[in-house]
Amino acid sequence: MTDALNTCAGAVLQQQVNGLWQHLGYFSKKYAKAQQKYSTYDRELLGIYMAIKHFRYLFEGNELTIFTDHKPLIYAFNKLESNCETPRRTRQLLFVSEFTTDIRYIQGERNAAVHALSRIETIHCPGAIDFSELALSQSTDIELNKPVLPDWIGRTHGTLTFRLTQVLSGHGCFGRYLCRLGREPTSGCHHCDTGDEDTALHTLQECPAWTEQRRQLVAFTGLDLSLPAVVRTMVGSRTGWDAVSSFCEHVMFAKEEAERERERTSLLRSRQRRTRRRRRSELDLRPP
Ligand SMILES: [Zn+2]
Repeated sequence: MTDALNTCAGAVLQQQVNGLWQHLGYFSKKYAKAQQKYSTYDRELLGIYMAIKHFRYLFEGNELTIFTDHKPLIYAFNKLESNCETPRRTRQLLFVSEFTTDIRYIQGERNAAVHALSRIETIHCPGAIDFSELALSQSTDIELNKPVLPDWIGRTHGTLTFRLTQVLSGHGCFGRYLCRLGREPTSGCHHCDTGDEDTALHTLQECPAWTEQRRQLVAFTGLDLSLPAVVRTMVGSRTGWDAVSSFCEHVMFAKEEAERERERTSLLRSRQRRTRRRRRSELDLRPP
């Protein structure tokens, strides 16, 4: 969904899962001075063009529909075919057409999130910021504590495998990450009943499901399983690297298997529901 004002463009990337729209990303950008003088049509088209450029790595290969509250744009590709567009519009539309030609109209009020993003000057911070809590969150957030590059430079051992990267980056088979992508309804951990969010740190430090694997790991790392300590162990020696790698391989393999099983079960359930519905409708159609 996209929207544009005189000074700003806004867009929200959404995907539909089981009939519900889930937000995947937000985009907001101020127009350059010259762009602010464009006509409404051109500003709206530019907004679409910029949003696609921004999000393209996320939806490449998937079906894409653009929703805009500027009705004339839904005929943009018809005009392009008649060869009467300006060079700038042609260039932007040709770029958009690499991803989709499906532009649909949506009323401004139904475009609420995008509406807000294209009016960034009206967005205010709702209250005072608790800086000590912010500092604590930053120090415990694995994404903000990514390995420091100099630690890796000069090391003579260790291959970064896919599962090792998942744990170090937090982008993998973790509830919080999958929930953010819309592949899980909640971010809770499926492997324990602590009610905690399933994150890379939870998996590494706390989740009771991996106690045995963690016991073997702390023999090399010591009890400090913070990301900097784990990285120090990895860089420190080949055996340290292998111990962390082995933990990640075992645990992530088990988590991937569990996720596949959950997907299989939910697919089976939805098939059973469809079959029951079909049978019911067949029974309803029979003459009394
Ligand atoms: Zn857990």
